[in-house]
Amino acid sequence: MADDIDRAHELEELHRAAALKARLTRKPYPPQDIECGKVFCIDCGDEVPPARLNVEPETPWCVECQGYHELKDRC
Ligand SMILES: [Zn+2]
Repeated sequence: MADDIDRAHELEELHRAAALKARLTRKPYPPQDIECGKVFCIDCGDEVPPARLNVEPETPWCVECQGYHELKDRC
């Protein structure tokens, strides 16, 4: 039982460290396109959903375009 909890804590630490590293090494976002209080994706022009902005408040892209940029940055 204690082993399971220890393992869960270890995993949690690993995930936290990885998330922190990703955040620190990520390029800064370009400025957002904001009109009438809404944020529009700077690539495709779609509105970036408010739920997404709750998670990534500074992103200028919708989910699809951000995925593309993250793939591109990895190369
Ligand atoms: Zn987009």
